[in-house]
Amino acid sequence: MTVKLNIPYGRQDITQDDIDAVIGVLKSDFLTQGPCVPKFEKKISKYCGAKYAVATNSSTSSLHLACLALGLVKGDWLWTSSITFVASANCALYCGAKVDFVDIDPTTYNLCPKALKNKLIKAKELGILPKIVVPVHLSGQSCDMKAIHELSKEYGFKIIEDASHAIGGKYLDKPIGNCEYSDIAVFSFHPVKIITTGEGGIALTNNFELSESMSLLRTHGITRDPKKMTNESDGEWYYQQIKLGFNYRMTDIQAALGMSQLERLDNYISRRHELASRYNNFLKDLPIVIPYQDNSSHSSFHLYIIRLKNEKTHKQVFEYLREKGVIVNLHYIPVHTHPYYQKTKVEFTELKHSEQYYKDAISLPLYPTMTEHQQDLVISTLREALQL
Ligand SMILES: *Cc1c(COP(=O)(O)O)cnc(C)c1O
Repeated sequence: MTVKLNIPYGRQDITQDDIDAVIGVLKSDFLTQGPCVPKFEKKISKYCGAKYAVATNSSTSSLHLACLALGLVKGDWLWTSSITFVASANCALYCGAKVDFVDIDPTTYNLCPKALKNKLIKAKELGILPKIVVPVHLSGQSCDMKAIHELSKEYGFKIIEDASHAIGGKYLDKPIGNCEYSDIAVFSFHPVKIITTGEGGIALTNNFELSESMSLLRTHGITRDPKKMTNESDGEWYYQQIKLGFNYRMTDIQAALGMSQLERLDNYISRRHELASRYNNFLKDLPIVIPYQDNSSHSSFHLYIIRLKNEKTHKQVFEYLREKGVIVNLHYIPVHTHPYYQKTKVEFTELKHSEQYYKDAISLPLYPTMTEHQQDLVISTLREALQL
């Protein structure tokens, strides 16, 4: 009898240090709004080389705050890639704005700057240019941020990098998240991502006003800063709500876990690269396309995505792997094809590379605690699957 495998596509790594850090907070005076969150924010902004960081309860919340801080309102457009998690697009709908999608580059699977340019030229003629573009660093490989930044100057849009996959990655030898070519960048700390806080996210920026605006909206739009109040403070107890915000705060429990995880971030990225090159080596003779890595980028390798050369076998291969306990996944279903987006009455066009991607892409298991033995089992099962 063979035992069914159980190899997930991703999973967290929790050490005794992480557990001790969390227990430390549980025994302290503050479970939330204590000293850990600001410390965590400082550490991340220093690691990335961005001036300001605003931690939240999820990357989805960070994307929402980023859109609000950049002034996205009803009637505006936000453009993003269709090969992403729905949150990259939903943030615009929360603000009452409309969403359209730019096709991916067929080699990197990231938002294609050429497709963006063509779409901008047409949108300009029609007078419907986007206010915000959200490039998504799929699997942790940076988009061509220089090209997108150039276009932002020419066409006057703001940039939010959805770097949910990409903490620890680099672009042009600098950490992703430094916001050199964007207004705001966000990371996710969901357990399948590179480091985790259980749930959690963070928004980075070099712009003081944007960071202040996101901090205010993170906590109900309430300020305790007398300088921001409309009248003199009534006394020690006094605060004012000056905007309509949310409770998007990260807890100190989460921040302590995040700080402890951050210590191992660089090791995680190295291990992910080791495993990725092993995949590259052992899979190169198979009828698949292995992940292209651009010279400008040092990926965090959140995902190891293969493309089947024969799309007809896609479902079969996927099901065979899952049946054997190799829990592959598909990142992502093109967002524009979801029923909710089909109902938005926007006519989505020219997304052929995104649609082709959906027909043949598979994310293989990859996480830092994966053993070579487990990886070998994934490889041999994939070989079997492809011979069906
Ligand atoms: C995970 C993810 C998100 C959402 O992150 P949460 O922290 O779960 O809200 C957004 N965008 C992308 C690309 C993601 O992968």
